[in-house]
Amino acid sequence: MKFIDEFRDADLAKAVINRVRRNSKRHIRLMEFCGGHTVTIMKHGIRQLLPETVEMLSGPGCPVCVTAHQDLDKAIALSREPEVIITSFGDMLRVPGSYSSLQRVRADGADIRIVYSTLDALQIARGNGDKSVVFIGIGFETTAPTIAASVMQAKEEGIENYYVLSLHKLCPPVIKALLDSGEVKLDGLICPGHVSAVIGSRPWDFAARDYGIACVVAGFEPLDVLQSVEMLVSQLEEGEPKVEIAYRRGVRPEGNLRAQELMSTVFEPSPAYWRGIGEVPESGLRLRKEYQAFDAELCFNFDPGPTLEPKGCICGDILRGVKTPLDCKLFRGACTPEHPVGPCMVSSEGSCASYYHYESL
Ligand code: SF4
Repeated sequence: MKFIDEFRDADLAKAVINRVRRNSKRHIRLMEFCGGHTVTIMKHGIRQLLPETVEMLSGPGCPVCVTAHQDLDKAIALSREPEVIITSFGDMLRVPGSYSSLQRVRADGADIRIVYSTLDALQIARGNGDKSVVFIGIGFETTAPTIAASVMQAKEEGIENYYVLSLHKLCPPVIKALLDSGEVKLDGLICPGHVSAVIGSRPWDFAARDYGIACVVAGFEPLDVLQSVEMLVSQLEEGEPKVEIAYRRGVRPEGNLRAQELMSTVFEPSPAYWRGIGEVPESGLRLRKEYQAFDAELCFNFDPGPTLEPKGCICGDILRGVKTPLDCKLFRGACTPEHPVGPCMVSSEGSCASYYHYESL
């Protein structure tokens, strides 16, 4: 398969689904970690096509959604600092914090600019030497290398007004935390293809080895997901959980060594707070000592104030895989993509937004 159409071929999809139906004998619970996979599953009705024996749960793999309220509040507090320009990916602007959102403080006059890469943020820093430019660094292992590269570039060029608020999250540690919690019983995991393109498939080995969870790294087209489900069913029916790569066109077991080197040059693992999950050791990234001059958290004296979670929002439970958006009383009523109450309705990869767009009533 080389081209996109082949990954959406209806006949191939039917053949895979038939094989899954034939081979799946016992009830299993599979979690798709990534919000991108959730979108594919919802958009193409994959849940409905699978046999009743295969139950699919959505996981915490949407970086906007898992960014905790207190971290959002930090970004909002920073945006109110004098002579500060905030740069951020667009999705973050609409996510409500405790008392406001970046979008609202921008409407009140804060200088907040949407960028499409850290190169844009660096360029803004070069052109505004009298201001401090802060990049809101959210994302998983996928985005961290480019943000690391921007910090290295700033250091090399002697740009002294560029800062990163590092809210990055690392994926394998949070899966370990979910499995350790015992709250969600899983048999298999669809591992994120883009994250694994950077870290490789090996960091998932612990899940198969220590927890008996079948793992398949999958791409994001419908046939990618179906193929991963078929591979997971086979592993579980044969009683041999292991880590396999279905997304061979993007992922190698060792990952992208250059990207890993960039990441580990600038960042080191640190505890991170995940919405709905809490603090998870070694699941975040902070700037190393040599790069602390670029760390917004250390270089600014700001007070985000007390945290206030949105009343009635169950994003946290959804991100842990214990509830679905259909369990939320605000879904499609008080909470819609136009008026989101929680982050899972804001992000295009959020479960609530996916259910809103693709789940028929
Ligand atoms: Fe939160 Fe809205 Fe989702 Fe409910 S529907 S969990 S309020 S984002």
